[in-house]
Amino acid sequence: MFRLLLAVLSASLWAASALLATTGTADPQRYLNDIKSLSAPAMEGRGAGTKGIARAAHLLADRYKALGLKPAGTHSYFQPFTVITGARINGHNHLTVETGSGKRELKVNQDYVPFSFSASAAVSGPLVFAGYGATADEFKYDDYSGLDVKDKIVVILRYEPEGFSAKSGHAGLTQHSQLITKAINARNHGARAVILLNGKLADGEEDQLTRFGSVSGPEDVGIVFVQVKNAIAESWFQAAGKSLSDVQKQINTGTSPASFAFPESLRVAANVGIQTTRATVNNVLAYLPGKTDEYVIIGAHYDHLGRGNFDSLAPSQIGQIHPGADDNASGTAGVLELARLFAGRQEQLQRGILFASFAGEELGLLGSAHWVKEPTLALDKCVAMLNMDMIGRIKDKKVFIGGVGTGSTFKPLLEQANSKSDLKLEYSASGFAASDHTSFVTKKIPVLFFFSGLHADYHKPSDTWDKINPTDAVVLLDLVSGVATQIADSSERPAFVTVVEDRPGPASGGGAGYGPYFGSIPDFGQTENGVRFSDVRPGSPAAKAGLKGGDVLVQFGDKPIRNLYDFTDALRRSKVGDEVEVKVLRDGQPVTAKVKLEQRK
Ligand SMILES: [Zn+2]
Repeated sequence: MFRLLLAVLSASLWAASALLATTGTADPQRYLNDIKSLSAPAMEGRGAGTKGIARAAHLLADRYKALGLKPAGTHSYFQPFTVITGARINGHNHLTVETGSGKRELKVNQDYVPFSFSASAAVSGPLVFAGYGATADEFKYDDYSGLDVKDKIVVILRYEPEGFSAKSGHAGLTQHSQLITKAINARNHGARAVILLNGKLADGEEDQLTRFGSVSGPEDVGIVFVQVKNAIAESWFQAAGKSLSDVQKQINTGTSPASFAFPESLRVAANVGIQTTRATVNNVLAYLPGKTDEYVIIGAHYDHLGRGNFDSLAPSQIGQIHPGADDNASGTAGVLELARLFAGRQEQLQRGILFASFAGEELGLLGSAHWVKEPTLALDKCVAMLNMDMIGRIKDKKVFIGGVGTGSTFKPLLEQANSKSDLKLEYSASGFAASDHTSFVTKKIPVLFFFSGLHADYHKPSDTWDKINPTDAVVLLDLVSGVATQIADSSERPAFVTVVEDRPGPASGGGAGYGPYFGSIPDFGQTENGVRFSDVRPGSPAAKAGLKGGDVLVQFGDKPIRNLYDFTDALRRSKVGDEVEVKVLRDGQPVTAKVKLEQRK
């Protein structure tokens, strides 16, 4: 389950419960053993770029082969593709501070550190102090007010003015404390680079540099962004006749900013070099032919977070293996179990079944996005995609099924299949959620998404096999098996239905603060300049303005959009009812549209 998308989207469940039939013979012990194998320490949390995920891929391919299923990748059972796994500091990093009296070369990782999302560039210029680097219209507060930072280097503090949280009405820090928000704001004000200072420390706390790579962000936020230790910056404040702690106290106890330009004789020259690291990962694909060339996909992602990174929800445990037993060894083992149940039925069903184990899901549905872009079987012959992501924690017999509205035959089919088991199904019509089936909805393929719900161990090292509920999971697998059989064998192919749904509510995982409702489904796979829409929600403001799947958003009002972070930031800074002129590239041609932003429910 992909966390960033989970925060952006949310499913509106139309509640219904029903009983379902179990006809299959999924085996709880065998199923649990597979989960144990997939979440074992040797699998290293199945993180992209680890030996562990390669081991998992081989385990899956070996199993498909042993079952006599046909290879359906580009390299036997494998379909390799490249993903970005992180970043590293490359050799050419320098930071020199010039004062009237001399030069000082700072040491990387000791005196200063670049952030992984920093632009790689050489910059130099005079310094300007811009408080917390916040422009908060909603609180009538702007650290940049009346400040000339064009082509200058801004020095800013971590966190945000005391009192933002109280004014926001929510507990905790606001969006203005986020480093990416500060970076985008500095860039939009014309600054050339950002120097971040920890500023005030709690009693006994050390002035530590942020660990490189521990803060999530885009590949390149479009501005140089480094952190310098307080002790070094203190002399800059002294040169301006001030002290860092006094200035910070002044901002926090007052209601207005305390920004100022440092003396002109103080200049910084920095060269930042960040290199993106990449890895090749594999979708693992196996085929059971039917009597015709049409087919159903039964899929699940098998990758997870490895040793955790900024996706981890247990930041203090980054570095430990995140075994991902429920997310998503549970779905992966489910696909294996169904492959076992179906393996003997070669050319017996009308349609074939493609068993798909996707990689790159946690990085943004990348494996499924790659497959629909470069399908290894004809895409127009795919009649439905059944996705299992986190099916191992069924509680109180409750199972969520998404996408029920996307296939014309799905609702009656599920209900018909529901006669003997005691599972309680909750249906959602929409096919958009934070997992791989979303990639298929954008290609107008009907989908069903099986999910047993979020829990406290989600994206933590504590998502372990002993917490799996195999007894109920196999009941669900029997249901999926029955549904797959019916779709594969019925004379009628389900027609794709575009679900016009209620507006999405605030994210289930991310809370409030995503700004007004726009209605685009971003494509996380792309990395060029702009935000590509994989689709646009029917009836949404974006749809009403004539925007379409495939459009690449490059401008939002007066703000250039390089990536999803810019888009999210611009949206957060807008208000419900605003009419925003946006520019998209459609087949490479610029198209402008006016989007009237609406309220999220
Ligand atoms: Zn996940």
